[in-house]
Amino acid sequence: MTKILVRGARVLGGAARDVLIDGETIAEVGAGLDAGDATVIEADGLVLLPGLVDLHTHLREPGREDSETVLTGTKAAAIGGFTAVHAMANTFPVADTAGVVEQVWRLGRESGYCDVQPIGAVTVGLAGKQLAELGAMHDSAAGVRVFSDDGKCVDDAVIMRRALEYVKAFDGVVAQHAQEPRLTEGAQMNEGVVSAELGLGGWPAVAEESIIARDVLLAAHVGSRVHICHLSTAGSVELVRWAKSKGWNVTAEVTPHHLLLTDELVRSYNPVYKVNPPLRTEADVLALREALADGTIDCVATDHAPHPHEDKDCEWAAAAMGMVGLETALSVVQQTMVDTGLLDWAGVADRMSFRPARIGRLEGHGRPVSAGEPANLTLVDPAYRGVVDPAGFASRSRNTPYEGRELPGRVTHTFLRGRATVVDGNLA
Ligand SMILES: [Zn+2]
Repeated sequence: MTKILVRGARVLGGAARDVLIDGETIAEVGAGLDAGDATVIEADGLVLLPGLVDLHTHLREPGREDSETVLTGTKAAAIGGFTAVHAMANTFPVADTAGVVEQVWRLGRESGYCDVQPIGAVTVGLAGKQLAELGAMHDSAAGVRVFSDDGKCVDDAVIMRRALEYVKAFDGVVAQHAQEPRLTEGAQMNEGVVSAELGLGGWPAVAEESIIARDVLLAAHVGSRVHICHLSTAGSVELVRWAKSKGWNVTAEVTPHHLLLTDELVRSYNPVYKVNPPLRTEADVLALREALADGTIDCVATDHAPHPHEDKDCEWAAAAMGMVGLETALSVVQQTMVDTGLLDWAGVADRMSFRPARIGRLEGHGRPVSAGEPANLTLVDPAYRGVVDPAGFASRSRNTPYEGRELPGRVTHTFLRGRATVVDGNLA
């Protein structure tokens, strides 16, 4: 059994403590622990967090291994401090059967860098017409509890109602990509001042907000759980706040890029800023930060969306939508939430580990840093400053909006059940 002593780290940003890892488990947390025969990691000035959990990752396997595989995606996740990611269902073939979700789950187990929890499609082929085999995917080895047609909205209210009713039986949740399809036909960016000036088709806030309003009402009506993916507008925040005030079972996520970037960047016509939902306004960004700080938004989710060079390095209208995010997520959250004083590190642990694990009903992740718990841990150096260089990414894709930007913080170590997957910022 391998023993590791992490010495003097600020646990969840609080007091400095020693943490002894024995095998797969945290054996002891305290001051002045005896290292004995353990390997010592000096962690003075570093922050120790529970391993991060992502509710929204696109791993692209099966079908688009040219942009990402389960192996390269889980390496990127480990570098970013994640010990578990939920893999979205919009693969080729779509993860709408027990067979496909079991394949993704098995590939995750084999990677050894990060646990992979597959998300099942809500409808067959993401076509929005017929419910997929939700029960069979839940009963499979993958144990699916989160279902989503992400990339597409479940826009048929009857199908959405049936899905919510169905998943209730096993405490599942439907994660909705809230986007009224008729209101966003041909849309290229946020609908507003900038889209009017550039003459690009706009994506109105109401397209997102109208679906959220409908779905929180549906979830309340059938007494089931709904999770709203990548909230992007101030109005969406108000709707989720209202639904929570009613005591309804509604949760929501925000991406790092929606906490930092605005639609002003589209003036560059650089397709790296093309994303779904689109970058919004400064007022939206500030509302999202405030909502994440006060807990209206439950968690940060990356929406890591790898695309090969040829799908992004082209004219704006033809470019694919999406950004990679696993390797920069924690740095963007530090810059927008911690360094601004909106959230402390305990808050980061809550929004990036405890709550996403709870929403996904993931066992063994999002646990306290205390004796007897699985040693899924992330060690962060908040004093670090570095310029983002996608050439060094573990992900197979490079479509980051942060290239050349200085961001704070760096994950120095990641531990998956006591085994180091990242050491000194590099893959172990
Ligand atoms: Zn989406």
